[in-house]
Amino acid sequence: MVKVVKRPEVKGLRQFYLVEVLIGLYTTLRHVIRNLIYPEKLPTVIYPEKPKPIPAATRGLHRLMKREDGSPRCTACMLCATNCPAFCIHIKAAESDDPYIEKYPERFDIDLLRCVFCGLCVEACPLDAIRMDMPIISFTGYTRQDFILTKEKLLDHDNSDFPHAPNYNPPKPLDITHGPHHNEFLSRIKK
Ligand code: SF4
Ligand code: SF4
Repeated sequence: MVKVVKRPEVKGLRQFYLVEVLIGLYTTLRHVIRNLIYPEKLPTVIYPEKPKPIPAATRGLHRLMKREDGSPRCTACMLCATNCPAFCIHIKAAESDDPYIEKYPERFDIDLLRCVFCGLCVEACPLDAIRMDMPIISFTGYTRQDFILTKEKLLDHDNSDFPHAPNYNPPKPLDITHGPHHNEFLSRIKK
């Protein structure tokens, strides 16, 4: 069935081209004046000079958490790489000198050009060794290599950097592989 839509009838002064032009100019001028008087109500974000606040739950760039001695908490268990749907985590494990730790990541690379920022690596990690809590959601590079997060880049921070927003306090897991919690862990599993 064909539905005929009638053209709206233009009557009176609006039949004149110049009148329509003046109405258009009035509309533009009204918006200009309103935006000058109330700049805070502008829907446009002046980016990157004034970036919008990032919600606490936003997944930003990855980082590897460190032990007190600065070594990575990661024990190269491969759970994050196994769970990654984009296959963009590449870990090369090596034997650790620490008798309490079996392995450590000799290489830990994340290919950001493949990453879909799903956060599954963070979910999978049993040691809270990898986080995506940095409020960095915009990054650029000139080569593919610029988008590879190497172990050195992933560890280039202090653990206390980028604290979460006050309403988000993730539970602190026990670091059972090292330090004071190791004895506690052993005593728990012996019970
Ligand atoms: S955020 Fe998702 S896609 Fe990116 S590295 Fe982690 S698991 Fe892989
Ligand atoms: S899951 Fe955690 S401990 Fe295991 S390899 Fe990934 S970052 Fe390291």
